[in-house]
Amino acid sequence: MALRTLESLGSLAGKRVIVRCDLNVPLRDGVITDDGRVRASLPTLNALIRAGARVVVCSHLGRPDGSPDPAYSLEPVAQRLSELLGMPVAFGRDTAGESARDAVAALEDGDVAVLENLRFDPGETSKDVVERQTFARRLAELGDALVSDGFGVVHRKQASVYELAEMLPSAAGLLIAAELEVLDRLTENPQRPYTVVLGGSKVSDKLGVISHLLPRVDRLLVGGGMMFTFLAAQGYKVGASLLESDQLETVKGYIADARERGVELILPTDAVVAAGFAADAPHVVADAVALEDTEFGASGIGLDIGPDTAATFANAIRDSRTVFWNGPMGVFEMPAFAAGTTAVAKALTQVDGLSVVGGGDSAAAVRQLGFADEDFGHISTGGGASLEFLEGKQLPGLEVLGWQ
Ligand code: ADP
Ligand code: MG
Repeated sequence: MALRTLESLGSLAGKRVIVRCDLNVPLRDGVITDDGRVRASLPTLNALIRAGARVVVCSHLGRPDGSPDPAYSLEPVAQRLSELLGMPVAFGRDTAGESARDAVAALEDGDVAVLENLRFDPGETSKDVVERQTFARRLAELGDALVSDGFGVVHRKQASVYELAEMLPSAAGLLIAAELEVLDRLTENPQRPYTVVLGGSKVSDKLGVISHLLPRVDRLLVGGGMMFTFLAAQGYKVGASLLESDQLETVKGYIADARERGVELILPTDAVVAAGFAADAPHVVADAVALEDTEFGASGIGLDIGPDTAATFANAIRDSRTVFWNGPMGVFEMPAFAAGTTAVAKALTQVDGLSVVGGGDSAAAVRQLGFADEDFGHISTGGGASLEFLEGKQLPGLEVLGWQ
């Protein structure tokens, strides 16, 4: 079965339409540093506004602990959305409480309201289905239909993504449809060599995808925080770098599996090691086999791939016909540790074929480093979601919209 589209919802004029977006943008001191996900949500919102719907936007932002936390308020995002839409946007100061109900009740046809961060309610991400349903039921009272367009969260069985879609007439928005069109090209007969580049900091989330990707790809490049678990699995010391020590055996298995399958698993041969996690921390380049042999000893932290690795990765990428990249190679937010990410981004722009960047921080990185969206085949709003899609997994947030 195919994904239910907006048209399947019939006329939406005068109806209250909840739109589950992924407006999880990077913020620094309350200021949005990359509004890509807000922009990506505009086509669906504009279509609904034109259709005369009363548009109720909801999203999560960051990882608050299930209660209101001003640091994770969606209010700055609502303001940015208002600027981009060129019209006023109302803001509900709670997620499904009195303020949200008032904001929705005041909407006229073609108006837009944003509700407060879904994750201020523990029901959104609860492991308990009854708790999720209870929260979803409160959200469902605010709308007559649901348009699910938060591609970045479709791999999560969460109240607004899954249970809410079961309770209301629901369909996929234009962003999800566009994302799937590109990702389909990566899963159905990708042109080869097909290379996947992994990095970032959500190491435990991302290690698991590797076993499913190995049968599909020709090359796998590992940088970012997860490289240190691979280096440690080869017996090297990694100082104070990010390390998932309970995953060492698993990672050894991946290394062996890659060898058996003839997949080129390319691991870093050098890294930038710093005295601490700070933009101005003293730092040196060290061989991957000797990360603790610097002046910082065992307290050195690896914060980027080194120049040799960057050159090797860039060659392997440029020489591929299909490339998917998720996760920065280093702490690119600090200029001293951005070189690896810059080199990989640049190589992706030179691919003769399809290049796809996925993930909130990866997308933010390429823009922050001065690349244009058009330099890449596609910039996906979803990191984890794209990876799980490429693994061939059934994603709950798509399944509930009719996708099989
Ligand atoms: P995405 O959002 O693209 O899926 P992640 O959220 O997994 O990516 O990771 C992004 C973060 O990873 C960035 O904030 C970056 O600073 C961090 N990162 C990259 N390399 C390292 C490293 N070696 N040590 C610590 N953090 C790292
Ligand atoms: Mg991220």
